[in-house]
Amino acid sequence: MEAKLKSVLLFGQPGVGKGTQGQILGDVPGFCHLATGDMFRGLDRDSELGQEFLKYSTQGLLVPDELTCRLWYQYVQGLINTNKYNPATDVLLLDGIPRSLAQAQTLDEHLEVLAIIHLVCDNEDELVQRMKRRAEIQNRPDDADEAVIRRRFEVFHADTAEVLRHYDPSLIHTVTATGIPGRILLNILEQVIPSMEGHFGNPLG
Ligand code: ADP
Repeated sequence: MEAKLKSVLLFGQPGVGKGTQGQILGDVPGFCHLATGDMFRGLDRDSELGQEFLKYSTQGLLVPDELTCRLWYQYVQGLINTNKYNPATDVLLLDGIPRSLAQAQTLDEHLEVLAIIHLVCDNEDELVQRMKRRAEIQNRPDDADEAVIRRRFEVFHADTAEVLRHYDPSLIHTVTATGIPGRILLNILEQVIPSMEGHFGNPLG
């Protein structure tokens, strides 16, 4: 990859709706959604890497930075090589990365961050309930156990501030993540679209 990839970061604690919103936005032409949680869950569970992922995720811990960034880079290359992502026309919507300062620093080599959407929900009990429901639907062991969920919240709070501090405050847009999903989507789009305009040509024009 030569030119820096124009990116929007979806940021927020586990269960806040990054995946739901990211998936919808990923269906809009001009966005390519990449969720690192999905990337990891797509690994063969019996492979060495898959086992390594499970070792951390089942305890509510983050996968080590070096492995995460290396896999992420390969994954992005794969999306480009298979024409699922065209850096000239699409914004890369990153969900779940960076989650540490070291990751943010590594990603700086590859990304031009146009905006950061910080989804916020102050009611952690509501998040826990959402995640337990999600566990049943998605068969996620890390969502089924409340102690693991709470551990992920702690990890998030321990790392959030310094990841956000790494970026220019003018890039950060806080969006309340409670209420009707369509309203949250609207609020995200209101923040994201102006920061994308001017960076991409009109593909039809
Ligand atoms: P959630 O945001 O609900 O915790 P994700 O699907 O984003 O869930 O991530 C699931 C797990 O995948 C995390 O708990 C962690 O173990 C791993 N993971 C995802 N993204 C990263 C990352 N950027 N760095 C390290 N580990 C990650």
